[in-house]
Amino acid sequence: MAADRLENIVALSKRRGFVYPSSEIYGGLRASWDYGPLGVELKNNVKRQWWRTMVQGREDVVGIDSSVILAREVWEASGHVETFTDPLTECQECHKRFRADHLEENFEAKNKRKPASLDEVNCPNCGNKGKFTVPRQFSGLLKTYLGAVEDESGLAYLRPETAQGIFINFENVQMTSRKKPPFGIGQIGKSFRNEITPGNFIFRTREFEQMEMEFFCVPGTDEEWHQYWIDLRLDWYKNLGINPDRLRLFEHPKEKLSHYSKRTVDIEYKFDFAGTEWGELEGIASRTDFDLSRHQTFSKKKMQYFDTEINQHYVPYVIETSIGLDRMFLLLLANAYEEQTIQKEDGTTDARVVLHLPAKLAPIKLAILPLTKKDGLPELAKQVMDDCKKSFHCFFEEKDAIGKRYRRQDAIGTPFCLTIDHQTKEDGTATIRYRDSMLQERIALDKVKALVLSNID
Ligand code: ATP
Repeated sequence: MAADRLENIVALSKRRGFVYPSSEIYGGLRASWDYGPLGVELKNNVKRQWWRTMVQGREDVVGIDSSVILAREVWEASGHVETFTDPLTECQECHKRFRADHLEENFEAKNKRKPASLDEVNCPNCGNKGKFTVPRQFSGLLKTYLGAVEDESGLAYLRPETAQGIFINFENVQMTSRKKPPFGIGQIGKSFRNEITPGNFIFRTREFEQMEMEFFCVPGTDEEWHQYWIDLRLDWYKNLGINPDRLRLFEHPKEKLSHYSKRTVDIEYKFDFAGTEWGELEGIASRTDFDLSRHQTFSKKKMQYFDTEINQHYVPYVIETSIGLDRMFLLLLANAYEEQTIQKEDGTTDARVVLHLPAKLAPIKLAILPLTKKDGLPELAKQVMDDCKKSFHCFFEEKDAIGKRYRRQDAIGTPFCLTIDHQTKEDGTATIRYRDSMLQERIALDKVKALVLSNID
Protein backbone atom coordinates (compact mmCIF):
# COMPACT_ATOMS: atom_id res chain seq x y z
CA MET A 1 0.00 0.00 0.00
CA ALA A 2 1.41 3.38 -0.90
CA ALA A 3 2.69 5.00 2.28
CA ASP A 4 0.14 7.82 2.20
CA ARG A 5 -2.76 5.40 1.72
CA LEU A 6 -1.61 3.32 4.68
CA GLU A 7 -1.19 6.50 6.72
CA ASN A 8 -4.72 7.58 5.83
CA ILE A 9 -6.07 4.20 6.92
CA VAL A 10 -4.14 4.39 10.20
CA ALA A 11 -5.44 7.92 10.78
CA LEU A 12 -9.03 6.96 9.96
CA SER A 13 -8.76 3.93 12.23
CA LYS A 14 -7.75 6.10 15.14
CA ARG A 15 -10.15 8.97 14.42
CA ARG A 16 -13.18 6.73 14.09
CA GLY A 17 -12.40 4.22 16.82
CA PHE A 18 -11.24 1.15 14.91
CA VAL A 19 -7.64 0.89 16.15
CA TYR A 20 -5.59 3.02 18.55
CA PRO A 21 -1.85 2.95 19.21
CA SER A 22 -1.47 0.93 22.41
CA SER A 23 -0.24 2.51 25.67
CA GLU A 24 -0.50 5.87 23.94
CA ILE A 25 -0.69 7.96 27.12
CA TYR A 26 2.78 6.62 28.03
CA GLY A 27 4.24 7.39 24.63
CA GLY A 28 3.13 4.13 23.05
CA LEU A 29 4.56 0.63 22.80
CA ARG A 30 6.06 0.11 19.37
CA ALA A 31 3.92 -1.91 16.97
CA SER A 32 1.23 -2.53 19.57
CA TRP A 33 -2.38 -1.69 18.88
CA ASP A 34 -5.68 -1.65 20.74
CA TYR A 35 -8.99 -2.18 18.99
CA GLY A 36 -11.67 0.44 19.71
CA PRO A 37 -15.47 0.21 19.72
CA LEU A 38 -15.79 -0.18 15.94
CA GLY A 39 -12.65 -2.30 15.68
CA VAL A 40 -13.90 -4.88 18.14
CA GLU A 41 -17.19 -5.12 16.25
CA LEU A 42 -15.43 -5.65 12.92
CA LYS A 43 -13.05 -8.17 14.46
CA ASN A 44 -15.88 -10.11 16.08
CA ASN A 45 -17.82 -10.13 12.81
CA VAL A 46 -14.80 -11.57 10.98
CA LYS A 47 -14.36 -14.23 13.67
CA ARG A 48 -18.03 -15.13 13.49
CA GLN A 49 -17.89 -15.34 9.71
CA TRP A 50 -14.83 -17.63 9.82
CA TRP A 51 -16.30 -19.78 12.60
CA ARG A 52 -19.58 -20.19 10.68
CA THR A 53 -17.81 -21.13 7.47
CA MET A 54 -15.10 -23.32 8.93
CA VAL A 55 -16.73 -24.89 11.99
CA GLN A 56 -20.48 -24.52 12.49
CA GLY A 57 -21.36 -24.70 8.82
CA ARG A 58 -19.61 -28.04 8.38
CA GLU A 59 -20.36 -31.46 9.72
CA ASP A 60 -16.72 -32.53 9.64
CA VAL A 61 -15.17 -29.75 11.77
CA VAL A 62 -15.52 -28.99 15.49
CA GLY A 63 -13.99 -26.23 17.59
CA ILE A 64 -11.88 -25.87 20.72
CA ASP A 65 -10.37 -23.09 22.83
CA SER A 66 -7.06 -24.19 24.33
CA SER A 67 -4.70 -22.40 26.73
CA VAL A 68 -2.20 -19.76 25.65
CA ILE A 69 0.46 -21.25 27.94
CA LEU A 70 1.01 -24.94 27.39
CA ALA A 71 3.48 -27.41 28.90
CA ARG A 72 7.03 -26.59 27.81
CA GLU A 73 7.39 -30.04 26.29
CA VAL A 74 4.75 -29.13 23.68
CA TRP A 75 7.16 -26.63 22.11
CA GLU A 76 10.07 -29.04 22.36
CA ALA A 77 8.04 -31.69 20.55
CA SER A 78 6.74 -29.27 17.93
CA GLY A 79 10.27 -28.17 17.06
CA HIS A 80 9.68 -24.55 18.04
CA VAL A 81 12.32 -24.44 20.79
CA GLU A 82 14.91 -25.67 18.33
CA THR A 83 13.87 -24.10 15.03
CA PHE A 84 11.49 -21.19 15.59
CA THR A 85 14.21 -18.67 14.87
CA ASP A 86 14.74 -15.88 12.37
CA PRO A 87 18.11 -14.64 11.05
CA LEU A 88 18.76 -11.25 12.64
CA THR A 89 21.15 -8.71 11.14
CA GLU A 90 21.97 -5.12 12.04
CA CYS A 91 23.02 -2.21 9.84
CA GLN A 92 26.29 -0.95 11.29
CA GLU A 93 25.60 2.58 10.02
CA CYS A 94 22.13 3.28 11.45
CA HIS A 95 21.93 0.36 13.92
CA LYS A 96 18.50 -0.69 12.72
CA ARG A 97 17.80 -4.41 12.86
CA PHE A 98 16.29 -6.50 10.10
CA ARG A 99 15.42 -10.05 9.22
CA ALA A 100 18.09 -11.17 6.75
CA ASP A 101 15.59 -13.37 4.89
CA HIS A 102 13.27 -10.39 4.38
CA LEU A 103 16.13 -8.26 3.03
CA GLU A 104 17.01 -11.04 0.58
CA GLU A 105 13.40 -11.56 -0.51
CA ASN A 106 12.92 -7.84 -1.15
CA PHE A 107 16.16 -7.71 -3.12
CA GLU A 108 15.02 -10.67 -5.21
CA ALA A 109 11.57 -9.15 -5.86
CA LYS A 110 13.21 -5.96 -7.14
CA ASN A 111 16.18 -7.41 -9.05
CA LYS A 112 14.70 -10.74 -10.17
CA ARG A 113 17.68 -12.59 -8.75
CA LYS A 114 18.95 -13.59 -5.34
CA PRO A 115 21.71 -11.44 -3.81
CA ALA A 116 25.08 -13.21 -3.64
CA SER A 117 25.33 -11.99 -0.04
CA LEU A 118 24.00 -9.19 2.19
CA ASP A 119 26.93 -7.09 0.94
CA GLU A 120 24.89 -6.37 -2.17
CA VAL A 121 21.87 -5.13 -0.24
CA ASN A 122 21.10 -1.52 0.64
CA CYS A 123 19.80 -0.75 4.11
CA PRO A 124 16.05 0.05 3.77
CA ASN A 125 16.45 2.62 6.54
CA CYS A 126 19.63 4.62 5.75
CA GLY A 127 20.35 3.39 2.21
CA ASN A 128 23.98 2.34 2.90
CA LYS A 129 25.15 -0.77 1.11
CA GLY A 130 26.91 -3.79 2.55
CA LYS A 131 26.89 -2.63 6.15
CA PHE A 132 25.09 -5.60 7.63
CA THR A 133 26.46 -7.79 10.41
CA VAL A 134 26.63 -11.55 9.91
CA PRO A 135 23.10 -12.81 10.64
CA ARG A 136 22.56 -14.72 13.88
CA GLN A 137 19.57 -16.84 14.80
CA PHE A 138 17.08 -15.15 17.10
CA SER A 139 14.26 -17.05 18.84
CA GLY A 140 10.73 -15.87 18.13
CA LEU A 141 9.34 -17.44 21.29
CA LEU A 142 8.18 -15.08 24.02
CA LYS A 143 9.16 -16.36 27.42
CA THR A 144 7.48 -16.08 30.76
CA TYR A 145 7.95 -17.69 34.18
CA LEU A 146 5.36 -19.59 36.15
CA GLY A 147 5.47 -19.67 39.93
CA ALA A 148 7.25 -17.62 42.55
CA VAL A 149 10.84 -18.02 41.38
CA GLU A 150 12.02 -16.79 38.00
CA ASP A 151 14.31 -19.62 37.08
CA GLU A 152 14.65 -22.34 34.47
CA SER A 153 12.21 -24.63 36.30
CA GLY A 154 9.31 -22.21 35.77
CA LEU A 155 10.20 -21.24 32.21
CA ALA A 156 7.22 -21.29 29.87
CA TYR A 157 6.36 -19.88 26.45
CA LEU A 158 3.43 -17.87 25.20
CA ARG A 159 2.13 -19.84 22.23
CA PRO A 160 3.44 -18.68 18.85
CA GLU A 161 0.54 -20.47 17.11
CA THR A 162 -2.76 -21.95 18.22
CA ALA A 163 -2.18 -25.15 16.24
CA GLN A 164 -0.30 -27.08 18.93
CA GLY A 165 -3.23 -26.68 21.33
CA ILE A 166 -5.23 -28.57 18.73
CA PHE A 167 -2.70 -31.36 18.21
CA ILE A 168 -2.28 -32.12 21.89
CA ASN A 169 -6.07 -32.41 22.21
CA PHE A 170 -6.45 -34.61 19.16
CA GLU A 171 -7.47 -37.69 21.10
CA ASN A 172 -9.72 -35.82 23.55
CA VAL A 173 -11.63 -34.20 20.74
CA GLN A 174 -11.75 -37.27 18.53
CA MET A 175 -13.14 -39.41 21.34
CA THR A 176 -15.59 -36.91 22.82
CA SER A 177 -16.99 -35.71 19.52
CA ARG A 178 -16.84 -39.24 18.08
CA LYS A 179 -15.28 -38.07 14.84
CA LYS A 180 -13.49 -40.23 12.38
CA PRO A 181 -10.93 -38.94 9.87
CA PRO A 182 -11.40 -36.99 7.72
CA PHE A 183 -12.36 -34.36 10.28
CA GLY A 184 -11.02 -31.03 11.47
CA ILE A 185 -10.58 -29.00 14.65
CA GLY A 186 -10.77 -25.21 14.48
CA GLN A 187 -9.58 -22.61 16.96
CA ILE A 188 -9.44 -18.82 17.23
CA GLY A 189 -7.09 -17.17 19.68
CA LYS A 190 -4.14 -14.99 20.52
CA SER A 191 -0.61 -15.91 19.55
CA PHE A 192 2.66 -14.22 20.43
CA ARG A 193 5.95 -13.91 18.57
CA ASN A 194 8.98 -11.86 19.42
CA GLU A 195 9.14 -10.34 15.93
CA ILE A 196 12.38 -8.53 15.08
CA THR A 197 10.76 -6.16 12.63
CA PRO A 198 7.13 -5.61 13.54
CA GLY A 199 5.41 -2.98 11.45
CA ASN A 200 3.08 -1.96 8.65
CA PHE A 201 0.36 -1.11 11.16
CA ILE A 202 -1.38 -4.30 12.35
CA PHE A 203 0.19 -6.51 9.65
CA ARG A 204 3.07 -7.69 11.81
CA THR A 205 2.83 -7.38 15.58
CA ARG A 206 4.13 -9.33 18.54
CA GLU A 207 0.66 -10.11 19.85
CA PHE A 208 -1.96 -11.11 17.30
CA GLU A 209 -4.89 -13.41 16.73
CA GLN A 210 -5.04 -16.45 14.54
CA MET A 211 -7.91 -18.49 13.14
CA GLU A 212 -6.58 -21.97 12.52
CA MET A 213 -8.03 -25.29 11.46
CA GLU A 214 -6.22 -28.62 11.50
CA PHE A 215 -7.80 -31.22 9.26
CA PHE A 216 -6.96 -34.85 10.02
CA CYS A 217 -7.17 -37.20 7.06
CA VAL A 218 -6.21 -40.69 5.99
CA PRO A 219 -2.57 -40.86 4.77
CA GLY A 220 -2.60 -40.91 0.99
CA THR A 221 -5.64 -38.62 0.75
CA ASP A 222 -3.67 -35.59 1.97
CA GLU A 223 -2.74 -34.14 -1.42
CA GLU A 224 -6.34 -34.08 -2.53
CA TRP A 225 -7.52 -32.52 0.74
CA HIS A 226 -4.75 -29.95 0.56
CA GLN A 227 -5.94 -28.75 -2.84
CA TYR A 228 -9.53 -28.80 -1.60
CA TRP A 229 -8.69 -26.43 1.28
CA ILE A 230 -6.57 -24.12 -0.91
CA ASP A 231 -9.49 -23.66 -3.31
CA LEU A 232 -12.04 -23.25 -0.55
CA ARG A 233 -10.01 -20.72 1.38
CA LEU A 234 -9.29 -18.61 -1.71
CA ASP A 235 -13.03 -18.53 -2.45
CA TRP A 236 -13.67 -17.26 1.08
CA TYR A 237 -11.83 -14.02 0.30
CA LYS A 238 -13.48 -13.65 -3.08
CA ASN A 239 -16.93 -14.20 -1.58
CA LEU A 240 -16.23 -11.37 0.85
CA GLY A 241 -15.70 -9.03 -2.08
CA ILE A 242 -11.91 -8.88 -1.93
CA ASN A 243 -10.56 -7.68 -5.28
CA PRO A 244 -9.38 -10.92 -6.99
CA ASP A 245 -6.72 -9.01 -8.95
CA ARG A 246 -5.00 -8.31 -5.65
CA LEU A 247 -5.13 -11.90 -4.42
CA ARG A 248 -2.68 -14.60 -5.40
CA LEU A 249 -1.49 -18.03 -4.35
CA PHE A 250 2.17 -18.35 -3.49
CA GLU A 251 3.68 -21.82 -3.66
CA HIS A 252 6.58 -22.18 -1.20
CA PRO A 253 9.67 -23.42 -3.07
CA LYS A 254 10.63 -26.93 -1.95
CA GLU A 255 13.96 -25.79 -0.50
CA LYS A 256 12.27 -23.19 1.72
CA LEU A 257 9.55 -25.38 3.20
CA SER A 258 9.21 -25.38 7.00
CA HIS A 259 10.56 -28.42 8.80
CA TYR A 260 7.09 -29.98 9.07
CA SER A 261 5.76 -29.23 5.62
CA LYS A 262 5.31 -31.39 2.54
CA ARG A 263 3.74 -28.53 0.57
CA THR A 264 2.68 -25.03 1.63
CA VAL A 265 0.66 -22.52 -0.34
CA ASP A 266 0.05 -19.01 0.99
CA ILE A 267 -2.81 -16.74 0.09
CA GLU A 268 -1.34 -13.29 -0.42
CA TYR A 269 -2.78 -9.84 -0.95
CA LYS A 270 -1.13 -7.01 -2.85
CA PHE A 271 -0.91 -4.53 0.02
CA ASP A 272 1.81 -2.54 -1.82
CA PHE A 273 3.78 -1.93 1.35
CA ALA A 274 6.98 0.02 0.86
CA GLY A 275 9.59 -2.57 -0.17
CA THR A 276 7.21 -5.55 -0.38
CA GLU A 277 4.20 -5.58 -2.67
CA TRP A 278 2.61 -8.82 -1.54
CA GLY A 279 1.84 -9.82 2.03
CA GLU A 280 0.81 -13.21 3.40
CA LEU A 281 -2.72 -13.49 4.76
CA GLU A 282 -2.98 -17.20 5.27
CA GLY A 283 -0.81 -20.30 5.05
CA ILE A 284 -2.28 -23.61 3.93
CA ALA A 285 0.18 -26.34 4.79
CA SER A 286 0.32 -30.07 4.31
CA ARG A 287 1.98 -31.11 7.58
CA THR A 288 1.95 -34.88 7.08
CA ASP A 289 1.90 -36.80 10.39
CA PHE A 290 4.78 -34.69 11.69
CA ASP A 291 3.00 -33.05 14.64
CA LEU A 292 1.03 -36.03 15.91
CA SER A 293 4.03 -38.34 15.54
CA ARG A 294 6.31 -35.95 17.40
CA HIS A 295 3.80 -35.62 20.24
CA GLN A 296 3.48 -39.39 20.26
CA THR A 297 7.24 -39.76 20.61
CA PHE A 298 7.67 -37.04 23.21
CA SER A 299 4.59 -37.77 25.34
CA LYS A 300 4.69 -41.54 24.83
CA LYS A 301 0.89 -41.37 24.38
CA LYS A 302 -0.72 -42.90 21.33
CA MET A 303 -1.76 -40.34 18.73
CA GLN A 304 -3.25 -42.89 16.41
CA TYR A 305 -6.66 -43.57 15.08
CA PHE A 306 -7.98 -47.12 14.90
CA ASP A 307 -10.02 -47.54 11.76
CA THR A 308 -12.45 -50.40 12.34
CA GLU A 309 -13.32 -50.63 8.65
CA ILE A 310 -9.79 -51.54 7.61
CA ASN A 311 -8.82 -52.92 11.01
CA GLN A 312 -5.71 -50.74 11.16
CA HIS A 313 -4.05 -48.10 13.31
CA TYR A 314 -2.62 -45.03 11.62
CA VAL A 315 -1.40 -41.55 12.54
CA PRO A 316 -3.58 -39.16 10.52
CA TYR A 317 -2.04 -36.70 8.08
CA VAL A 318 -2.83 -33.05 8.65
CA ILE A 319 -3.78 -30.14 6.44
CA GLU A 320 -3.62 -26.78 8.20
CA THR A 321 -5.33 -23.53 7.27
CA SER A 322 -3.92 -20.64 9.31
CA ILE A 323 -5.05 -17.05 8.89
CA GLY A 324 -4.12 -13.97 10.91
CA LEU A 325 -7.20 -12.09 12.11
CA ASP A 326 -5.38 -8.76 12.32
CA ARG A 327 -4.07 -9.16 8.77
CA MET A 328 -7.61 -9.96 7.63
CA PHE A 329 -8.73 -6.79 9.38
CA LEU A 330 -6.11 -4.72 7.56
CA LEU A 331 -7.01 -6.41 4.29
CA LEU A 332 -10.67 -5.47 4.77
CA LEU A 333 -9.78 -1.84 5.43
CA ALA A 334 -7.32 -1.71 2.51
CA ASN A 335 -9.84 -3.30 0.16
CA ALA A 336 -12.73 -1.11 1.36
CA TYR A 337 -11.11 2.32 1.70
CA GLU A 338 -11.93 4.86 -0.99
CA GLU A 339 -11.53 8.63 -1.24
CA GLN A 340 -14.28 9.59 -3.64
CA THR A 341 -14.96 12.77 -5.57
CA ILE A 342 -18.66 13.23 -6.13
CA GLN A 343 -20.09 15.25 -9.02
CA LYS A 344 -23.07 17.22 -7.77
CA GLU A 345 -26.09 18.24 -9.84
CA ASP A 346 -25.14 21.93 -9.74
CA GLY A 347 -21.78 21.16 -11.38
CA THR A 348 -19.69 21.46 -8.22
CA THR A 349 -17.86 18.56 -6.63
CA ASP A 350 -17.81 17.13 -3.16
CA ALA A 351 -15.53 14.60 -1.50
CA ARG A 352 -16.16 11.72 0.83
CA VAL A 353 -14.24 8.88 2.42
CA VAL A 354 -16.14 5.62 2.19
CA LEU A 355 -15.44 2.13 3.49
CA HIS A 356 -17.06 -0.40 1.16
CA LEU A 357 -17.11 -3.12 3.80
CA PRO A 358 -19.28 -6.17 3.12
CA ALA A 359 -22.60 -5.51 4.91
CA LYS A 360 -22.27 -8.70 6.94
CA LEU A 361 -18.94 -7.55 8.38
CA ALA A 362 -19.67 -3.84 8.84
CA PRO A 363 -19.49 -2.80 12.53
CA ILE A 364 -22.81 -0.96 12.33
CA LYS A 365 -25.48 -2.20 9.96
CA LEU A 366 -28.03 0.57 10.24
CA ALA A 367 -27.78 4.20 11.37
CA ILE A 368 -31.13 5.59 12.46
CA LEU A 369 -31.21 9.35 12.07
CA PRO A 370 -34.12 11.63 13.00
CA LEU A 371 -33.95 14.65 10.70
CA THR A 372 -34.55 17.05 13.58
CA LYS A 373 -34.43 16.82 17.36
CA LYS A 374 -38.06 17.83 17.74
CA ASP A 375 -41.61 17.15 16.55
CA GLY A 376 -41.54 13.62 17.88
CA LEU A 377 -39.01 12.42 15.27
CA PRO A 378 -36.43 11.14 17.81
CA GLU A 379 -39.18 9.14 19.54
CA LEU A 380 -40.18 7.52 16.25
CA ALA A 381 -36.57 6.78 15.50
CA LYS A 382 -36.11 5.19 18.93
CA GLN A 383 -39.02 2.85 18.21
CA VAL A 384 -37.23 1.58 15.07
CA MET A 385 -34.00 1.33 17.07
CA ASP A 386 -35.65 -0.75 19.80
CA ASP A 387 -37.08 -3.10 17.22
CA CYS A 388 -33.88 -3.53 15.17
CA LYS A 389 -31.16 -3.54 17.84
CA LYS A 390 -32.13 -7.01 19.00
CA SER A 391 -31.33 -8.39 15.56
CA PHE A 392 -28.25 -6.42 14.50
CA HIS A 393 -26.01 -3.55 15.56
CA CYS A 394 -27.68 -0.15 15.07
CA PHE A 395 -26.62 3.38 15.80
CA PHE A 396 -28.77 6.36 16.73
CA GLU A 397 -27.72 9.96 16.16
CA GLU A 398 -29.66 13.21 16.15
CA LYS A 399 -26.85 15.82 16.13
CA ASP A 400 -25.57 17.75 13.07
CA ALA A 401 -26.86 18.23 9.56
CA ILE A 402 -28.00 15.06 7.84
CA GLY A 403 -25.29 15.29 5.14
CA LYS A 404 -22.60 15.39 7.79
CA ARG A 405 -24.11 12.39 9.55
CA TYR A 406 -24.19 10.44 6.27
CA ARG A 407 -20.51 11.18 5.71
CA ARG A 408 -19.59 9.91 9.16
CA GLN A 409 -21.44 6.66 8.49
CA ASP A 410 -19.82 6.31 5.04
CA ALA A 411 -16.39 6.61 6.64
CA ILE A 412 -17.06 3.74 9.03
CA GLY A 413 -18.70 1.51 6.44
CA THR A 414 -22.34 1.56 7.62
CA PRO A 415 -24.25 0.10 4.67
CA PHE A 416 -27.67 1.65 5.47
CA CYS A 417 -28.86 4.94 6.92
CA LEU A 418 -32.50 5.52 7.75
CA THR A 419 -33.71 9.10 8.04
CA ILE A 420 -36.92 9.71 9.93
CA ASP A 421 -38.61 12.93 8.76
CA HIS A 422 -41.96 14.66 9.01
CA GLN A 423 -43.49 12.48 6.32
CA THR A 424 -42.77 9.47 8.53
CA LYS A 425 -45.37 10.72 10.95
CA GLU A 426 -47.92 10.91 8.18
CA ASP A 427 -47.43 7.71 6.21
CA GLY A 428 -45.03 5.52 8.24
CA THR A 429 -42.26 5.66 5.62
CA ALA A 430 -38.70 6.94 5.96
CA THR A 431 -35.72 7.51 3.66
CA ILE A 432 -33.29 4.66 3.34
CA ARG A 433 -29.88 5.61 1.95
CA TYR A 434 -27.42 3.11 0.48
CA ARG A 435 -23.77 3.71 1.32
CA ASP A 436 -22.13 2.66 -1.96
CA SER A 437 -24.53 4.17 -4.50
CA MET A 438 -25.75 6.96 -2.19
CA LEU A 439 -29.20 6.31 -3.66
CA GLN A 440 -32.13 7.19 -1.45
CA GLU A 441 -35.68 5.85 -1.52
CA ARG A 442 -38.70 5.71 0.72
CA ILE A 443 -39.37 2.56 2.64
CA ALA A 444 -42.13 1.54 5.06
CA LEU A 445 -40.74 1.39 8.60
CA ASP A 446 -42.00 -2.16 9.06
CA LYS A 447 -39.90 -3.30 6.07
CA VAL A 448 -36.56 -1.90 7.32
CA LYS A 449 -35.51 -4.78 9.54
CA ALA A 450 -36.15 -7.40 6.87
CA LEU A 451 -34.23 -5.38 4.28
CA VAL A 452 -31.15 -5.12 6.48
CA LEU A 453 -31.35 -8.75 7.56
CA SER A 454 -31.57 -9.96 3.97
CA ASN A 455 -28.32 -8.13 3.23
CA ILE A 456 -26.32 -9.34 6.20
CA ASP A 457 -27.26 -12.97 6.32
P1 ATP B 1 5.44 -14.24 7.99
O1 ATP B 1 6.23 -14.95 6.92
O2 ATP B 1 4.65 -13.05 7.48
O3 ATP B 1 6.21 -13.96 9.23
P2 ATP B 1 4.58 -16.80 8.82
O4 ATP B 1 4.74 -17.59 7.56
O5 ATP B 1 5.58 -16.89 9.88
O6 ATP B 1 4.31 -15.25 8.44
P3 ATP B 1 2.57 -18.50 9.84
O7 ATP B 1 3.45 -19.09 10.87
O8 ATP B 1 2.22 -19.29 8.63
O9 ATP B 1 3.15 -17.07 9.40
O10 ATP B 1 1.25 -17.98 10.59
C1 ATP B 1 -0.02 -18.08 10.00
C2 ATP B 1 -0.67 -16.72 9.87
O11 ATP B 1 -0.62 -16.01 11.10
C3 ATP B 1 0.00 -15.81 8.86
O12 ATP B 1 -0.44 -16.09 7.55
C4 ATP B 1 -0.42 -14.45 9.32
O13 ATP B 1 -1.71 -14.12 8.81
C5 ATP B 1 -0.52 -14.61 10.82
N1 ATP B 1 0.67 -14.05 11.46
C6 ATP B 1 1.87 -14.65 11.63
N2 ATP B 1 2.73 -13.84 12.27
C7 ATP B 1 2.06 -12.69 12.51
C8 ATP B 1 2.41 -11.45 13.13
N3 ATP B 1 3.59 -11.26 13.66
N4 ATP B 1 1.46 -10.48 13.20
C9 ATP B 1 0.23 -10.67 12.69
N5 ATP B 1 -0.16 -11.81 12.08
C10 ATP B 1 0.74 -12.81 11.99
